[in-house]
Parts: sequence; C-alpha cells; structure tokens
Amino acid sequence: TRRSVYPTGFDSFNLGGKIPLGLKRKGLRIAVTGGAGFVGSHLVDRLIARGDSVIVVDNFFTGNKDNVMHHFGNPRFELIRHDVVEPLLLEVDQIYHLACPASPVHYKFNPTNVVGTLNMLGLAKRIGARFLLTSTSEVYGDPLQHPQVETYWGNVNPIGVRSCYDEGKRTAETLTMDYNRGAGVEVRIARIFNTYGPRMCIDDGRVVSNFVAQALRKEPLTVYGDGKQTRSFQYVSDLVEGLMRLMEGEHVGPFNLGNPGEFTMLELAQVVQETIDPNAKIEFKPNTEDDPHKRKPDITKAKELLGWQPKVPLRKGLPMMVSDFRQRIFGDQNTPAA
Ligand code: NAD
Ligand code: UDP
Ligand code: UDP
Repeated sequence: TRRSVYPTGFDSFNLGGKIPLGLKRKGLRIAVTGGAGFVGSHLVDRLIARGDSVIVVDNFFTGNKDNVMHHFGNPRFELIRHDVVEPLLLEVDQIYHLACPASPVHYKFNPTNVVGTLNMLGLAKRIGARFLLTSTSEVYGDPLQHPQVETYWGNVNPIGVRSCYDEGKRTAETLTMDYNRGAGVEVRIARIFNTYGPRMCIDDGRVVSNFVAQALRKEPLTVYGDGKQTRSFQYVSDLVEGLMRLMEGEHVGPFNLGNPGEFTMLELAQVVQETIDPNAKIEFKPNTEDDPHKRKPDITKAKELLGWQPKVPLRKGLPMMVSDFRQRIFGDQNTPAA
C-alpha cells in the first residue's frame, strides 16, 4: 500500500502517515543520483514539473551544471556535489539511482556501480525509500538470444575491457535484489537500451553523439568494424516516461526500456546524413573488443505491466537532438545552414 511505500514523505506533508483515498498524491521528495547527467536532467525536469521536490546528487564526472541550471532558485530543487562512492545522509521518499560513468571513455577504473549502488541501497534501507536502479542492456553482453527478453541471463565476458561496466551493472542488480529480499527495501530495476537526445555528452564516444557531432563539424562519420552490428535507439523522453511508470508501479522488474526499432550502424549513419548533411563521408575504423553484434529489446513485459511503449521514432527524435548539438557546438551565431 501507499502507506508502507512512502512512510517518511507523507508525514512531512502532515498526512499522519496516511493518504486519504481519492486525494491525488503530490509533493514527494525524490533524490536523483546522476541527476546532472543526460538522462537524469530530463527526469528531473519531469519530476519538478509534476510538483515533486528533487535533490540531485552528482559529482559532475560526466554530468554538467548547465543541464539543471534552469532549476536554480526553485525552492523545490537542490543540487549536491557528492560522489556516491562515499556514504550519504538524506531523507527522501524515492531514490532514482542513475549515477554511473556511462560511456566507454569514462567508465573504466570506477567502482561507482558497485560501491555507489551499495551506499544508495543502504540509504534506502535506513530511510524506507523506494529505490530504482538504472541498469543496462549491456547485462545481456553479446547476446545469444535475439531480441533480448528479461529472463535471458546474458553472455558477458567477465574479464574484458567492457567488464567494468556490464559486470558492474550485473553486480548492482544483484545487490538491489539482495536488499529487496534481505532487508525488504522496495526496489525497481530498469534495463535501459541505447538512448539519445538533447544534453547528451558531445564527446563521450557514443555512436549517435559521435555521428551527429561529426556531421555538424563536417568531419567523416566514423563507423567501427563493418557497420553491420545493430542497436536500437530510444529517445530520452520515452525512457523518462518508462522510468517514472516503473517507479510508481507495483512491479520490481527487471524491465527492458528501449525502442525495438533496430538499425545497423551504417543505417544510422544514413539517417544522420539525411538529417544533417547528405554529403557527409563515412570512414571505417577498427571496432572495439567484445562489441555486441546485435541488440534489440523485447518490451512485451513493459507493455503489459507498465502500459508503456516508446512513441518517438529515430527519424523524429534525431532532429531534436541535432538542434541542441548545433546550439552547443556553434553557439547561437555562426550556425551553418543545414
Ligand atoms: P551521464 O553520464 O550523462 O549521467 C551519469 C551522471 O552520473 C553524470 O551526471 C555523472 O556526473 C554522474 N556520476 C557518475 N559517477 C558518479 C559518482 N560516483 N557520484 C555521483 N555522480 C556520479 O549518462 P546517462 O546516459 O544519463 O546515464 C544515466 C544512467 O542510465 C546510467 O546509470 C547509465 O548506466 C544508464 N544507462 C544509460 C544508457 C544510455 O544510452 N544513455 C543506456 C543504458 C543505461
Ligand atoms: N549508507 C549511506 N547512507 C545511509 C545508510 C547507509 O550511505 O543513510 C551506506 C553505508 O555507509 C554502507 C552502505 O550504505 O556503506 C550499506 O549500508 P548497510 O546499512 O546496508 O550496511 P552496513 O553498513 O550494515 O554494512
Ligand atoms: N560505433 C561506431 N562509431 C562510433 C562510435 C560507436 O560505429 O563513432 C559503434 C560501436 O562499435 C557499437 C555501436 O556503434 O557497435 C554502439 O556503440 P555505443 O558506444 O554508442 O553503444 P553500446 O556499444 O554501448 O551499445
């Protein structure tokens, strides 16, 4: 019931631990770790717009104050510079745990996924908050099942160059379930598939941001390997909707949150050419080790239990990202014609 789910929050609104039937719930206190990052900042926008009070916890490792600056001065918004690898004391009703060095150039050598997740689970346990982990499709590794269903256990190399990320997230999922079963913490697990949109890091090496930045800068699009590997690309607003439905719903998960539209990297390059510059060149480069050959979510479970499915196809979402990148790369002036 609501009462057991949000014990601290309702007291703070003088509801005596109860929420009267029929009264719309409002004004939760929510911590978003990694809230100054790409996905986190869009989530924060939605939570603030809904009327919640939001505490962003971020060490600005890959995130940026610019992403949340528009909330400065709002009494329902707080920003704390903090590394979640260190313990944290807060009082909130929900914790969205996104903090994680999320891209290949950043995630090596960092214990955030294990130690950071443990601390946030310890926090959730102490204060009785509901905890949502943003895991990743990378837990499926180089999948031997296609598309990937949540019941698939994955094919991950435990000692490869990507292991810190995918095994780190697998450990984070394990810890999350252990705190659920062992300590009764209310948890939710999302397995996020490749997501793109405005505020994405420009130079973090992800394929969509690389191609868009390259096309805008009149550089060749770097396709790794033969470009026949596939991914499915989800627009950020669809993901945020899915995360919020998951947090508010009754199901632990894990849930795949992704767009089932599947593209090869060559097809993606073509969409970027169509959107930005039909004359953009393609340059082939060697691929990284252990690169998954294909990836596509089976989202039947999220459709059935969360009533969620993505709405924004790649050709609709990409232009919104391109205008943001154009602005950030060139500023207001000197924007070359599309
Ligand atoms: P991002 O890099 O933009 O955001 C991550 C945020 O976490 C950044 O603001 C960073 O500064 C912060 N952070 C990193 N380490 C931290 C630490 N130790 N303490 C406090 N803050 C820390 O990445 P994103 O794309 O917004 O990813 C958000 C979450 O979603 C991550 O957990 C990521 O693994 C997951 N995810 C994202 C995608 C995607 O395609 N974007 C896919 C799968 C999973
Ligand atoms: N923790 C935290 N904030 C809290 C409570 C716990 O950061 O409000 C951290 C704590 O420092 C510990 C981790 O969460 O490293 C796990 O806490 P838990 O109480 O589950 O385990 P224990 O401390 O008993 O090993
Ligand atoms: N990729 C590419 N060119 C780039 C960056 C990445 O062809 O400039 C490829 C990469 O090899 C992988 C796919 O695009 O096959 C997706 O890579 P990304 O790092 O964006 O996401 P992930 O591998 O985590 O799904």
